[in-house]
Amino acid sequence: MNTATSPGMSRTRSADLIELEHSLGAHNYKPLDVVLTRGERVWVWDIDGDRYLDCLSAYSAVNQGHCHPRILAAMVEQAGKLTLTSRAFRNDQLALFYEELAALTRSHKILPMNSGAEAVESAIKAVRKWGYEVKGVPEGQAEIIVCSDNFHGRTIGIVGFSTDPDARGGFGPFPAGFRVIPFGDADALEAAITPNTVGFLVEPIQGEAGVIIPPAGYFRRVRELCTANGVTLILDEIQTGLGRTGRLLAEEHEGIEADVTLIGKALSGGFYPVSAVLSNTEVLGVLKPGQHGSTFGGNPLACAVARAALKALTEEDMIGNSAGQGAYFKHHLEGMGGGAVREVRGRGLMLAVELHPEAGGARRACEALRARGILAKDTHGHTIRLAPPLVITRDEIDWALERIEPVLAALG
Ligand SMILES: *Cc1c(COP(=O)(O)O)cnc(C)c1O
Repeated sequence: MNTATSPGMSRTRSADLIELEHSLGAHNYKPLDVVLTRGERVWVWDIDGDRYLDCLSAYSAVNQGHCHPRILAAMVEQAGKLTLTSRAFRNDQLALFYEELAALTRSHKILPMNSGAEAVESAIKAVRKWGYEVKGVPEGQAEIIVCSDNFHGRTIGIVGFSTDPDARGGFGPFPAGFRVIPFGDADALEAAITPNTVGFLVEPIQGEAGVIIPPAGYFRRVRELCTANGVTLILDEIQTGLGRTGRLLAEEHEGIEADVTLIGKALSGGFYPVSAVLSNTEVLGVLKPGQHGSTFGGNPLACAVARAALKALTEEDMIGNSAGQGAYFKHHLEGMGGGAVREVRGRGLMLAVELHPEAGGARRACEALRARGILAKDTHGHTIRLAPPLVITRDEIDWALERIEPVLAALG
């Protein structure tokens, strides 16, 4: 069958696909009505052939840019050799994935999983078990402290400690053992710790909440409190990690090291779901054969893809580019707005523009950006997230700024 080439025909095709999606799919998302078919570096194309600058990067899963050729080559090569053995047998990619990831992140132990939510769940299991076996918490009493407005994924366990009514409403009952404190408030952490506290799970920068950066010095005190009280500090770097904020891990901005670090998303450069729990020997050391697992976790295809994704990230200086281009992007966004902009926030290429409530809403701004060739995501009504792939060039940022400026001006 011929693919539609005339604009009229493919418009019909686009409308048809949207209608099909709507009639057959669960309506748990409300995407912009752009039907994408191809991606390369920072650019994506819809089925009408229109090109857009991707300023979401699949929530930072495609930090390396769309269809990165080195990752693609590794995936194709490995897919033709061996894709899945299960962990009942060994494969020749897993050990090398461990070796390279451990060297890069200075981790002692690694647990490979698939989605980010699975990494979070796995960390919760390991830290609870560590609490009982090493810290000596009475069986069934382990507590984990989390922050309000957190986002750690969508499983029952995780949404049970979400404070977002949409995320948790109607899904209970939930597992017990979690305490919620405000984000960025070290005194609240100090007050919430009890002898049964086994972990503090927190994002270095709250991404889904709207790119919320905690006060300077917060994480240094968090680190001290966790160390002093024998509490495992679990940093969810699934979105902030792997170069997004201009450092390999966002913890580096704070001058601290977590006990457990969760990564996912860009660990595969967007090719495949790959996540990992990184820890010292003590925490992951409590998991013994048969106590945890995943059919796909650590499979050779995932490992080969992740190894190539990490090499692309580090060897092509994407982290340095994120820091440099992010600072430039942020500086120029700060000079814009015609009164509509309340604040520009972010680190590296994890940026957000918060609009004044009377500016008419971030969704409308994102629709206007789309019409000018930029795909961005609104969050929490008044915030536009801008997080392009880390391979973006100065010229491409200038191209984006030229289009963002009139959109923000029209709001003001
Ligand atoms: C995306 C995200 C997750 C969940 O990852 P999934 O792969 O969607 O399960 C967890 N934590 C943070 C901070 C995230 O941004």
